[in-house]
Amino acid sequence: MNTKSRGQIVIVGSGIIGLAHALTAIEAGWQVTVLERHSRPLGASVRNFGTLWPLGCRFGEERDQALFGVDRWRKLAAEIGLWTKPCGSLSLAYREEALAILNEFATNSEAPKTDFRLLGPEEVRQRFPNANPDGMRGALYSRAETVISPQAAISGLAEHVRKMGAKMHFEQPVIKVHDHSVETNTGDRHAFDQLVIAAGDEMRLLFPQELAQAQLKRCQLQMMRTVPQAKGFDIGAILVSDHTLCHYPAFANCPSTAKLRTRLEDESPLHQKWGVHVIAAQHPDGTLVLGDTHEYATDFDPEIRTDLDDLVLASLREFALIPDLRIASRWHGTYLKSAIGQTQVILHPRNRVTMVTAMGGMGMTLSWGLASRIVQSWEN
Ligand SMILES: Cc1cc2nc3c(=O)[nH]c(=O)nc-3n(C[C@H](O)[C@H](O)[C@H](O)COP(=O)(O)OP(=O)(O)OC[C@H]3O[C@@H](n4cnc5c(N)ncnc54)[C@H](O)[C@@H]3O)c2cc1C
Repeated sequence: MNTKSRGQIVIVGSGIIGLAHALTAIEAGWQVTVLERHSRPLGASVRNFGTLWPLGCRFGEERDQALFGVDRWRKLAAEIGLWTKPCGSLSLAYREEALAILNEFATNSEAPKTDFRLLGPEEVRQRFPNANPDGMRGALYSRAETVISPQAAISGLAEHVRKMGAKMHFEQPVIKVHDHSVETNTGDRHAFDQLVIAAGDEMRLLFPQELAQAQLKRCQLQMMRTVPQAKGFDIGAILVSDHTLCHYPAFANCPSTAKLRTRLEDESPLHQKWGVHVIAAQHPDGTLVLGDTHEYATDFDPEIRTDLDDLVLASLREFALIPDLRIASRWHGTYLKSAIGQTQVILHPRNRVTMVTAMGGMGMTLSWGLASRIVQSWEN
């Protein structure tokens, strides 16, 4: 770490994007102040699956950014004592089009051969007894995916950032950006050399016009957590299946993806309408985090909808054998996503002001790589 300060960084928001920038900037020798409007981080960063998910990323720069994120989380976890489960992921195929996608993906010339393994139904049955064998045609095992515990990871990271020297101010909503400082609702001003605005889906409160031009859409997701499974139960990997293959950019260019999408639209129009694709991730207390739905709008109804949970659970039963599916809690999360397929959106509404958002469902995975790029851009 540099010992001489290069100047003052102010960061708005203590979600993963804000905290990744905070730690990266401290390590590069900047002084850092984080301003968070709540008494603790409460946004998307503590409402997600906790799955670090390179499998969702396009080969090349995007996957490299994701793998950098996994590596950073794993090292940080070892350093500050966070729980991680480097269990990998298992994408299970029940339709011939889904199996074709897995083959096309794994045999792509850009696919690192050591990262993926195609498994036949018998091998899946032996290695992953909680994968539903009924109608299963095969699977792709991918070794990079890792589970972290979002709430513990974000609060542990915030505490680490504080110990490393950042000034952390909670219950301090930023209401205005001046030329050289930001102002909070108590009238306090914090001077900056560089400002990072990482306010999650509430970005529109600051620089609404610039944000409107960036072609973002707001997405609300519905999530569930089961009761703890019986002692000793281990789901073995993060489990996903056919619906998920239509969701992530990684599979967008596989020739069979359009065919699978058409088939799923015919077979399960409600799943398509509500953007249901299911991930099951096991956490250290034995619970499973399940979801999710994707609803795109400017604002959303407040209710948790049990009919949508039923869609998720129906889809889950197709590919996973979970002994205890009693639901202990349900919640919503929201994020911004690029409407034109960008992995992340970086705006500079003014000199020395950077807005970072729209990592969609990949922010826990991609934030570290982006923070590293942004902090390096301040070098000159
Ligand atoms: C249900 C769900 C599941 C997901 N699953 C995954 C996953 O498994 N893997 C993955 O990689 N990603 C996942 N994601 C995506 C990931 O969670 C997000 O991309 C990421 O958390 C966004 O981080 P952020 O810092 O931008 O936002 P947030 O975590 O929302 O943080 C923004 C912070 O800014 C604060 N803030 C807002 N306005 C102000 C203001 N004016 N002044 C001060 N503070 C302010 C807010 O209070 C909040 O704490 C998921 C997201 C959701 C919702």
